[in-house]
Amino acid sequence: MSFIADLHVHSGYSRATSKAMRPSGLWRWCQMKGIRVVGTGDFTHPEYFRELSDSLEPAEEGLFSLKEKQQEGDVPESCVSEVSFILQAEISSIYKKNGRTRKVHSIVLAPGLKEASKLNEKLDAIGNIKSDGRPILGLDAKLLLELVLDVSPECMVIPAHAWTPHFSVFGAVSGFDTLEECYDELTPHIHAIETGLSSDPPMNRRLSMLDNITLISNSDAHSPAKLGREANLFNTEMSYASMTKAMKTGEGFGGTIEFYPEQGKYHVDGHRKCNVSMEPTETRKAGFICPECGRKLTVGVMHRVDDLADRAEPAPSEFRYIVPLADLISEVMGRGVRTNGVQGRYLETLSALGNEFRVLRDTPLYDIKASAGDDIAGAVSKMRSGDLYIEPGYDGEFGVVSLDKKPPKPRKIKKTKAKKDGMLF
Ligand SMILES: [Zn+2]
Ligand SMILES: [Zn+2]
Repeated sequence: MSFIADLHVHSGYSRATSKAMRPSGLWRWCQMKGIRVVGTGDFTHPEYFRELSDSLEPAEEGLFSLKEKQQEGDVPESCVSEVSFILQAEISSIYKKNGRTRKVHSIVLAPGLKEASKLNEKLDAIGNIKSDGRPILGLDAKLLLELVLDVSPECMVIPAHAWTPHFSVFGAVSGFDTLEECYDELTPHIHAIETGLSSDPPMNRRLSMLDNITLISNSDAHSPAKLGREANLFNTEMSYASMTKAMKTGEGFGGTIEFYPEQGKYHVDGHRKCNVSMEPTETRKAGFICPECGRKLTVGVMHRVDDLADRAEPAPSEFRYIVPLADLISEVMGRGVRTNGVQGRYLETLSALGNEFRVLRDTPLYDIKASAGDDIAGAVSKMRSGDLYIEPGYDGEFGVVSLDKKPPKPRKIKKTKAKKDGMLF
């Protein structure tokens, strides 16, 4: 069986996360996206754990489905499908090791509510798991791994967005240079890392030290529209055991669906406040100092990979790039992704053609042309062939996709606006 899974998301109990991020919302949106198995997010949060226990029921072995399924008429008929949940949380570890402050995010997967509950009990004794859906604990990432495996060897710990500067195992600011430096003798229990939005498999495959590590990709979504912006392909039976086995051995793991890493928020170096972005060579020349304000530049993922890589050319890997459909529609319409026009055409396209992954990956272009219009078909075609330009992201600012193969207009620093009710993105 072949299916798509997104194994890292957050719930409304995490900071800056949409209230629609709960089982019913995930279920609805995964159908529209074409995601067959989705992480629950945040099972460590006591209230959310209660909600999960109440609203989910066992489905395939080690996976769950929603008890009360109400389509409420807002999943287009063409997208209606099954969605299963996998128990998933993320822990933020902040601690000192080898004389430096370390900040590492870890994804945790659990095979059942019993195991998740046992883990929650242990974490509750260590720190505050109630204040945020992604709890911040003073727990060494290695000790977290030990504790999780002690709860059940079937649980899995996966370093999250492994290259982001501030909160990751290899991050430039507070990470490590090797997995061994972080996990010591427990390193063999790390079987997979999440590459994150700003890096892709070819970048990671420049490091021979990751040769035996499965590279997974997830959305880390804080709102439902972002689900599946990265995801994994599994060619296995649908069960917790088969999926974790695939990630541990690589067998049955079909590779990833990737964001263009340039579109990620930390691809190149820069200083967001000053609107300054720099390639690694420029950063080195500038002595890591922002030419505008004299502060330190944030070293991005490309730079960090470059520092730790031992190969000029990557070993082969299996993956495919996508650009989220709403971004493509926004670009062809010349309007913001949150405008009614873009949201309307997004839903029309799904209603006519089926879920987003199908449209982006499989639907023949002539069908897209006939149902969604020449402009969207053209954009999907360019996306599929990689015939586009992306102004790379830096220091927390997302990259910007342009279908004209030329740099988009210079960006202004965006002020975050509150979303209006009923907006999709
Ligand atoms: Zn994280
Ligand atoms: Zn600056």
